[in-house]
Amino acid sequence: MTQRVVVVGAGLAGAKVAESLRARGYAGSLVVLGAEPVRPYERPPLSKGYLQGSDERESVFVHPEAWYDEHDVDLRPDATVTSLDLASGHVVDAGGGRTAFDRLVLATGSAPRGLDVPGAELEGVVTLRTLADSDRLRARLSEARRVVVVGGGWIGLEVAAAARAAGCEVTVVVRGAAPLLGVLGPRMAGMFAALHRERGVELRTRSEVRALLPARRSGSLDGTAVGGVELLDGTVLPADLVVVGVGARPRVALAEDAGLVVGDGVHVDAHLRTSDPRVLAVGDLAAVAHPFLGHRVRVEHWDAALHHGETVAATVLGADEPYDRLPYFFTDQYDLGMEYTGWTGPEGGTDVVVRGDEDARELVAFWTRDGRVVAGMNVNVWDVVDDLQALVRSRAVVPPERLADTSVPIADLAG
Ligand SMILES: Cc1cc2nc3c(=O)[nH]c(=O)nc-3n(C[C@H](O)[C@H](O)[C@H](O)COP(=O)(O)OP(=O)(O)OC[C@H]3O[C@@H](n4cnc5c(N)ncnc54)[C@H](O)[C@@H]3O)c2cc1C
Repeated sequence: MTQRVVVVGAGLAGAKVAESLRARGYAGSLVVLGAEPVRPYERPPLSKGYLQGSDERESVFVHPEAWYDEHDVDLRPDATVTSLDLASGHVVDAGGGRTAFDRLVLATGSAPRGLDVPGAELEGVVTLRTLADSDRLRARLSEARRVVVVGGGWIGLEVAAAARAAGCEVTVVVRGAAPLLGVLGPRMAGMFAALHRERGVELRTRSEVRALLPARRSGSLDGTAVGGVELLDGTVLPADLVVVGVGARPRVALAEDAGLVVGDGVHVDAHLRTSDPRVLAVGDLAAVAHPFLGHRVRVEHWDAALHHGETVAATVLGADEPYDRLPYFFTDQYDLGMEYTGWTGPEGGTDVVVRGDEDARELVAFWTRDGRVVAGMNVNVWDVVDDLQALVRSRAVVPPERLADTSVPIADLAG
């Protein structure tokens, strides 16, 4: 019988493991160790409403402060786990404390990548991952005049929108021909590029950073604060704030050092068990053998962190409930809200079919492979995600004209 579950990592995924275990009646000991000084919170608002000052601080937390005591969850903030002793069934924290477990859940998430260029350590060069990062960035945006965002991914673009809302001049440095090109393909990536250009963002596409340059103060080099971004073609973009949004990497070190099977993330089966069945992994960290997709998938999505806990609770309590949710992601930028569900994979070979009004940015886009819808994205169109997921799951071959025909409800496309 499981007497103690220890969760390492107090983010959304770790918090939801605790919640799901208690909701399903797990009555044993439950310890959650987290490196950050605050209780678990959600990260999406950190680059959106919270960064822009429209979401209250309290609204980002996963549970009210009292919830942990009320549910007999031993939440230990400021506790960084430094190693796993799988042989004896303990985790070891930075203070040398050892906590015994019967089942261990790894929920250490991912860490932002930095820029490996000269000047990356200058003051005013920041990344965005934590609540503290978001607080600092918000304060900086209120003072900055010229912001350069390095990276045209989701977080970079959301920060660009927040910086425009704060009245800053914004340039986004993008490696490819358009932001989000790898995820969305040229047509839909072009829509996001147009949106940002309309809002006054300068997109420097096909560009890479060579160095970050120190600011000049009163004619001399200040030496500590950033003043510009030098691109590979020699262009220098003046900047008093540089936000680096070039992706994240899963924090696999603990698992790797303990000898668990790790690739891009910690390998888990559909029940979220690692190569040691006493140890599970969730959230950004977990590379899950996905039953529907038929291959391993690791996503850095809020939805997975939100729902992996239910599978962990089932697995710990002996129920056979594999994790089979389709990947789901959302973003908000200016007045554009979108949801994306499904999986196109890195192999390409998909076609895009659009229904709705592309100019007004009110549409549903379908990605098809061999006539079957593998992913869908709704932009400023709501309440269609369940229908899109059912369509993907049906694996039905649907003619493109039918997909594009707004008179056919999405729910009827599979039939
Ligand atoms: C700014 C931002 C905006 C985002 N917006 C969206 C969005 O719009 N839509 C969407 O779908 N997804 C979004 N995401 C992604 C989403 O937030 C993540 O997928 C989610 O946070 C993953 O949760 P997690 O619990 O697995 O990991 P994390 O949230 O990274 O939490 C892991 C926790 O573990 C702690 N930890 C790490 N190592 C240790 C250790 N050794 N010991 C103890 N604790 C440790 C960390 O400090 C951290 O608190 C966004 C992410 C960011 C950063």
